[in-house]
Amino acid sequence: MMNIILLGPPGAGKGTQAARLQAERGMIQLSTGDMLREARASGSPIGDKVKAIMDAGELVSDEIVTALIGERLDTCADCGAIFDGFPRTKAQAEALDLLLAERGRKLDHVIELAVDEDALVKRITGRFSCAKCATGYHDSFKPTQVPGVCDGCGSTEFVRRKDDNEENVRTRIAEHRAKTAPLRPYYDERGLVRRVDGMASVDEVAAQIAAILDGEA
Ligand SMILES: [Zn+2]
Repeated sequence: MMNIILLGPPGAGKGTQAARLQAERGMIQLSTGDMLREARASGSPIGDKVKAIMDAGELVSDEIVTALIGERLDTCADCGAIFDGFPRTKAQAEALDLLLAERGRKLDHVIELAVDEDALVKRITGRFSCAKCATGYHDSFKPTQVPGVCDGCGSTEFVRRKDDNEENVRTRIAEHRAKTAPLRPYYDERGLVRRVDGMASVDEVAAQIAAILDGEA
């Protein structure tokens, strides 16, 4: 079973690609954010601990996050795994190596969705959706057929996510770059980093990832 990390800034399409890998290859996605939310809602002893920490506005420790990842991995020993949002630091990367080794697994690829920052900003800030039927649109790539009128339901009301403005998006990208900077050399040294063109279409990116996983690229 293959174990991979998807790297890339917010908006690069990691979630979309991970969803495809789950559907097409039966891999399991270990998204730290999702796992913490699930644990919190589960009422398990570790979940209650997570809830208390998050409610206090504190960061959940690496020990707890790795314990959750271990539990999730143990639910499917034969499943390939996609790590998303973890590791973020070198210490976490080392913890992940240990966690995998304890289960007879190892990291196979670190797949980086390489993006052009300006193009990514345009991609994210152009998104809007219908306020009534939630159909998604984009200023440049998928405008409504009639300006200001939803194709689906005819509504003239649209919404944009407040945090999708240019300044916020640039800040999110810069934060991600700074946070993950120490990971690059750690995995580069071991020759694990593979780059794909994160600005290509969803299908094209999926094809590039598939070629890496199948040993054809
Ligand atoms: Zn609509």
